[in-house]
Amino acid sequence: MEQNLFVYNTLSRKKEEFKPINPPHVGMYVCGPTVYSDVHLGNCRTYISFDLIFRYLTQIGYKVRYVRNITDAGHLEGDAGDEGEDKISKKAKIAQLEPMEIVQKYATGFHEVMQIFNVLPPSIEPTATGHIIEQIELVKEMLASGFAYEVNGSVYFDVEKYNQTQDYGILNGRNLDDMLNNTRTLGGQDEKRGKLDFALWIKAKPEHLMKWPSPWSVGFPGWHLECSAMSHKYLGDQFDIHGGGIDLMPTHHTNEIAQNVACFNKNPANYWIHTNMLTVNGQKMSKSLGNSFLPHELFTGEHSILERGYSPMTVRFFMLQAHYRSTLDFGNEAMEASDKGFKRLMAAVGLLAGLKASNSTEIEIAPLVQRCYAAMNDDFNSPVLIAELFEAVRIINSVNDGKLKIDTNNLQHLQNMMRLFVFEVLGLKDEQAENDDLPKVLNFIVTLRSEAKSNHDYATSDKIRNGLQKIGFQLNDSKDGTNWSKI
Ligand code: AMP
Ligand code: ZN
Repeated sequence: MEQNLFVYNTLSRKKEEFKPINPPHVGMYVCGPTVYSDVHLGNCRTYISFDLIFRYLTQIGYKVRYVRNITDAGHLEGDAGDEGEDKISKKAKIAQLEPMEIVQKYATGFHEVMQIFNVLPPSIEPTATGHIIEQIELVKEMLASGFAYEVNGSVYFDVEKYNQTQDYGILNGRNLDDMLNNTRTLGGQDEKRGKLDFALWIKAKPEHLMKWPSPWSVGFPGWHLECSAMSHKYLGDQFDIHGGGIDLMPTHHTNEIAQNVACFNKNPANYWIHTNMLTVNGQKMSKSLGNSFLPHELFTGEHSILERGYSPMTVRFFMLQAHYRSTLDFGNEAMEASDKGFKRLMAAVGLLAGLKASNSTEIEIAPLVQRCYAAMNDDFNSPVLIAELFEAVRIINSVNDGKLKIDTNNLQHLQNMMRLFVFEVLGLKDEQAENDDLPKVLNFIVTLRSEAKSNHDYATSDKIRNGLQKIGFQLNDSKDGTNWSKI
């Protein structure tokens, strides 16, 4: 790889050369979902964006420890996540279930959706409830260093005090007065000393369901604390990349940095990467705005604004056609265009294996490969990469039509390049080919069974029939032979 990787860092507000602390190792922490409802397509965009980043870093030789948490406690409803009811407990009460049943249900659903979109699992997926002790330790640390104070069994972070020696607005680029002026005034009931102070530990009301003992009260941790505790535990005082959606930057990540500095005297990550939002008619897709789409609604087309359904890989391709730092507006026309583009790309990939090499070449592939790397090295620019891949599509089609000659060496380059960038880096799958393969495999198994039967090996023949039955395929014997159907 000849060029170096440049990454846009929210902290410096510019693209910087990526230099990990301890190469070839890279530590990356990304804020995971709050598992109180089904993930919507907007959430999926963020995780697909980080999947692209994870895949590319791995592809260029880094050994990435990717930590993506599950928020299963402590995320309250207010904008800053520390006022009102706990999102999970609220859902549990409505559904008359245990909070952990809610957590299990939606965490499983999240994993299923990630798999459908071919998002690779992270290296570690820690949960907030699994790290209560670590969070309590951080609260003790912040009380000891004077950045936190206790009121009636709850503990708050003192933002104004912190800002006397540190820059609270280092990530969001705003000064404290500006932030103070844009925050609502403290209510009469408020235990906080300052308007920007945030909860580290919250004393539980008697009816609150998820609570733990602590030196201050039976309660639960503030939302921002879990990410400081878990990133520190698995990646150390300082690691390479911290990521999340851009909506998390002004408050959640700002508070996370303050906590880490208060505990360990270090901004936890060198590069802060933020993904932009999926929008609908220009508005952020969100559950609370009521404009969110569930992935399965998109696959089936069962949604009032959809004209038809789209396959998971079409959706992934649609997402990757935009740069991760641009907003992306969701709509029928854009999906139709992506569907056409994705099919064209897959059709060309399908031709690759059968292309005939000539003795001479009219095309050199190496510069194209270089341009693919250059696109990704420029802050993971997937739309530019995809444009280069369509250049490859034109080459493939011309060779296939006999209009362009390519020699063995260049053909091999082309095949490797497409495999690498289409499947490994962009993480796309050829759904059509996968669908075509299944009947071939089943027909082959049916032939094996027929052979076993004609050899009077009924034990094997029954084993095959029962085995297929278990995984959802029925064999139907008739005088014309055997065919299979899905149960
Ligand atoms: P949450 O479960 O609300 O904490 O969100 C999980 C992740 O999804 C966070 O990183 C959010 O920034 C991200 N997210 C939420 N809405 C959108 C959206 N419309 N587009 C892209 N990412 C989003
Ligand atoms: Zn977080």
